[in-house]
Amino acid sequence: MLETRTTCPYCGVGCGVIVESDGAQITGVRGDPEHPANFGRLCTKGSTLHHTATRPITLQARLLHPAQRLSRQSAPQPVSWDAALTLAAERFSRTIREHGADAVGFYISGQLLTEDYYVFNKLAKGLVGTNNVDTNSRLCMSSAVAGYKATLGADAPPACYDDVNHASTLFITGSNTAFAHPILFRRIEDAKRANPAMKVIVADPRRTETAEFADLYLPILPGTDVALYHGMLHVMLWEGLVDHAYINAHTHGFEALRNRVRDYTPKEVAKLCGITEDALLQAARWFADSKGRTLSLYCQGLNQSSSGTDKNAALINLHLATGQIGKAGAGPFSLTGQPNAMGGREVGGLANLLSAHRDMGKAEHRAEVARLWGVDDVPAKPGKTAVEMFEAAADGEIKALWIACTNPAQSMPDQAAVHRALERAEFVVVQEAFSTTATCRYADLLLPATTWGEKDGTVTNSERRISRVRPAVPKPAETRHDWDIVVDFARRLERHLRPGLPTLFPYDTPESVWVEHRESTRGRDLDITGLSYARLEQSPAQWPFREGDTQGKERLYEDGIFPTADGRARFADVSYAPVAEPRDARYPFSLNTGRLRDQWHGMSRTGTIGRLFGHVPEPVVEMNAQDLARLRLSEGDLVHVTSRRGSVVLPVRASDQVAGTQAFIGMHWGEEFVSGSSATGSRIHGVNALTTPAYCPKSKQPEFKHAAVKVLKAELP
Ligand code: SF4
Repeated sequence: MLETRTTCPYCGVGCGVIVESDGAQITGVRGDPEHPANFGRLCTKGSTLHHTATRPITLQARLLHPAQRLSRQSAPQPVSWDAALTLAAERFSRTIREHGADAVGFYISGQLLTEDYYVFNKLAKGLVGTNNVDTNSRLCMSSAVAGYKATLGADAPPACYDDVNHASTLFITGSNTAFAHPILFRRIEDAKRANPAMKVIVADPRRTETAEFADLYLPILPGTDVALYHGMLHVMLWEGLVDHAYINAHTHGFEALRNRVRDYTPKEVAKLCGITEDALLQAARWFADSKGRTLSLYCQGLNQSSSGTDKNAALINLHLATGQIGKAGAGPFSLTGQPNAMGGREVGGLANLLSAHRDMGKAEHRAEVARLWGVDDVPAKPGKTAVEMFEAAADGEIKALWIACTNPAQSMPDQAAVHRALERAEFVVVQEAFSTTATCRYADLLLPATTWGEKDGTVTNSERRISRVRPAVPKPAETRHDWDIVVDFARRLERHLRPGLPTLFPYDTPESVWVEHRESTRGRDLDITGLSYARLEQSPAQWPFREGDTQGKERLYEDGIFPTADGRARFADVSYAPVAEPRDARYPFSLNTGRLRDQWHGMSRTGTIGRLFGHVPEPVVEMNAQDLARLRLSEGDLVHVTSRRGSVVLPVRASDQVAGTQAFIGMHWGEEFVSGSSATGSRIHGVNALTTPAYCPKSKQPEFKHAAVKVLKAELP
């Protein structure tokens, strides 16, 4: 039996996994006891990884040959790699020649490795000359990025998992950590057992498993997070709980914020948020306890919002106002949803970022990147972000789309609009490991990629820790690694766009890509010039890790100096804004969407494992029992859930996790699913038929956490 150390490909906890194989077949997995993210533990998803890789069964769901569709109605026909990539280069170069570089777009994924991300970013910005490269990480953490930059000066989570063990108060807000980051939650449970005096506050409209664990649960109304944080700051000011010494020494802008929160009285905030004044006072006091350490953990409840950046910034305000940052057990700590959303941020693989946290808006930063890449310049105009990219395709502005390792035909909000965009796009390339995703149906060209267990490279988890991803078994014969597909395509495209010039893509291994990425970080806040693949063979490491360092930095800003021009953090003077689409008489329910414990994203992998359906076997809409009674609905009844954009048919389930006038649907099921309990066998559509494309104007992250819907009993034929 062979053993290979690698990293779980699911959530941003980034657990280490030891893969057992016979050299041809993965036969088992177990947690890596030496990996500092999990110390040997795995959750239900991680511990069943080997079942997702059991050949030959899983090969039935794989793309195994490049294939071309001559029309969207026809079946894909196998073609050679040479023919496929020659065609792709011709179609992309013709589109660029006839319509300009911004007529093409690349939509990629937080599940790609850092090396894959790096070459995609360079392909778009360095070779094609467009910033139209964005990622499903836009749907996951772009509000956290914008929140950090607006307040602390850089996109760098300042805390680490070990802070859970040093905190005296945990403020978990907008995160169902128990389901979305299970192994981190195990650590929280351990910390509470070791220190029963540790206070756990959970703010969430839904009484989740995480909320059940809380000493103080704040069942806030959807979208009222900024009001809650401002109300807490109001209490802290009134009761003399802010740290003026810290504010004076390390920040700017407190006066404006102080004036702002004057109006956020406990009485008003409690009413607006739907909580008691006592609960608000208690939360503020526990958070600001000067003898303790407060760590905030947060995720999509803040990020997936039309005011996501302001929610992030208002929470960070609380840490700056109380000096709860830069010390063990204290700080704002955004949890990353996907396994390598962080790596994508590091290489600047988004439409508004440049490599190594450089700003697209700064001429000197663009010049630095152009110099590193050996090109004349990189474009200054921000590219289309996720929602904008599909809107531009629907409008005919983007004509050629390259989609890699993600399934927008299921995962983007407002599915009807996304499907229109995919239909209208003149040439769609889908680079993917699985043939089963809804997006594959729109591909003119299908490029078979490798997947977990076969790939080689690196990922970065929520606590800035870079881990190696290693192959345990050989890849299926005609599949290729994502970075390798991009490099081959780029070299062919260069023959059209810069004939006769030396290639910008001289890579022959993932390590050669990573070495160039490493060089791009020199002198930056995420400097990793002291790292190498060889060093990472010894253990995963956090950034920054500068030349000469023997280890990375566990936590940031311990010296109180922030990566801003004058070294001071900034308070964000933001105001509460309601959700983009408030419920009303026609659409009287607030729809929330989210993860379930045992499924991952669109279920390409977890949906192949029978035992993972034991927890939640089919999609349901969860509602409060009183609402069901009022609507004369019984458990299991089929209902139409309808928003202004679409409708789905689902069984209804009574849930005491969901408050009155709210509804919850898991995010994992897509349009192919046929409801097991449906007597009609109706084809149902995923929850994103309902969700709104409204997004935060600062981060461009869509509001998956709220849409106004109505619920009506479905008529049986
Ligand atoms: Fe994988 Fe996340 Fe589970 Fe760890 S917690 S095993 S990274 S899914």
